[in-house]
Amino acid sequence: MNAIEVIVLNDFALYMAIEALENLGQDSLAEGLKAIQGSARVPIPMILHCPKCHTQHIDAPGETIEVRGGEVCVDKWDNPPHRSHKCQKCNTTWRPADVCTTGVARIETKGKADTWSPE
Ligand SMILES: [Zn+2]
Ligand SMILES: [Zn+2]
Repeated sequence: MNAIEVIVLNDFALYMAIEALENLGQDSLAEGLKAIQGSARVPIPMILHCPKCHTQHIDAPGETIEVRGGEVCVDKWDNPPHRSHKCQKCNTTWRPADVCTTGVARIETKGKADTWSPE
């Protein structure tokens, strides 16, 4: 792993590096790191399945309605960028990658040699 990868995976280190570069008057370098910081937060669309129960995990805004302690609770979820995903079926929480990902039903492209596609 090279230095830039370590920085991208560590948001706080990236923030500190941007601040240090700005203090040194290295504004163009700081802008470059800000762009990396922004792109690291853009979730990568992926076909995700729960590692435990294999249910497909699709991220979308929504709400879950649960009865807790005799009270009806509505949890709203606006689907912010996230790295750890919680299976709606078995509650397993797992991290498929060190960057933000988003579970989708299908991805945009198909390879010529692909033998499987989500249908
Ligand atoms: Zn599961
Ligand atoms: Zn998720």
